[in-house]
Amino acid sequence: MAGLYLHIPFCRQACHYCNFHFSTSLRYKDDMVEAMAVELAQEAPYLQKEPLQTIYFGGGTPSLLDDAEAARLFEAIHRHYTISPGAEITLEANPDDITVARVTAWKALGVNRLSIGTQSFFEDELRWMNRAHTAAHAKDCINLSLAAGIDNLSIDLIYGSPLLSDEGWRQNVETALAFGIPHLSCYALTVEEKTPLHKHVATKRSLPTDDEKQARQFLLLMDWMQEAGYEHYEVSNFAKPGFRSRHNSAYWKGEPYLGIGPSAHSFNGRERRWNVANNAQYIAGITDGTAARETEQLTASNRLNEALMIGLRTSEGLDLAKLEADWGEAERKRLERALRGFIEAGLVRLFPDHAQLTKEGMLRADGIAAALFVG
Ligand code: SF4
Repeated sequence: MAGLYLHIPFCRQACHYCNFHFSTSLRYKDDMVEAMAVELAQEAPYLQKEPLQTIYFGGGTPSLLDDAEAARLFEAIHRHYTISPGAEITLEANPDDITVARVTAWKALGVNRLSIGTQSFFEDELRWMNRAHTAAHAKDCINLSLAAGIDNLSIDLIYGSPLLSDEGWRQNVETALAFGIPHLSCYALTVEEKTPLHKHVATKRSLPTDDEKQARQFLLLMDWMQEAGYEHYEVSNFAKPGFRSRHNSAYWKGEPYLGIGPSAHSFNGRERRWNVANNAQYIAGITDGTAARETEQLTASNRLNEALMIGLRTSEGLDLAKLEADWGEAERKRLERALRGFIEAGLVRLFPDHAQLTKEGMLRADGIAAALFVG
């Protein structure tokens, strides 16, 4: 099992909350695609000939690639990798880029899953976030994608923004559910440093986020999605049975993956490495054979802490029997002691061989995991 991630580092405009790596200058798009095709060739040995079970075009905005650019990347993938029959091939698309012709072209290349950056169906929120699309685009693109035959569809929604009331949040989720979309990723708005939103909050041009409202909207979301028959399979992800993201699920199971493009991360079970988050440096490094990337060898503590974080964030929970098999009985006992306070507080449920977050625990998943970390 192996996955391939391609980071397309361009966006039409900068969303005010975003801290991903991207550029709004499209000047070097051709050179970037060529460099990524070269990196695909150079790094094929990283996955040791494992067939690709999943391919994920993320970003940035992969739907900004024109058909020839997307075809160039697929040609390099086919030339240097084996794609498993039935592989999941996802492309992140922004609503304003989606037309029947584009979806048809992506399908012809092999894309069988779209992840659409909807974020909200309200015009005022979209303007406040500085999204490039309108509320009408947000709805039309879903109809277009379904009509073009993409039924494995995911959309992203953001909750907890200062403009979003609980009633507005209900309407956003209901709108998504009314389309019958089988997968939703929902994120709390966070004010990341070095973003325009951070500056707007610091200068009081924007209200700050409200932790209580965010917690309330997340709890409401979990109830609505449960009632609608979706599996809450990871803190931020909900799927109808059979529609979990196989790519992300493989990350969470510790399967190897290769990341191509600036800022992309790779993992092979022993090390993590990441490409430079700078388009010009990335292109120059790939072109002259001195790829700019950093590598971290994973220690035993790193690997245990990752297993704890991932286990707690996913619906499978912490597999205590496996942790004991991998790390010893003393580690299991340490974890059971460390979990006791969270169990008493109603944040964690303990079963004979696993521990799982409750809905309230989901609100504090990362904090609870950090309290369990070693070293
Ligand atoms: S489109 Fe996506 S990657 Fe680009 S700025 Fe907006 S949130 Fe960030």
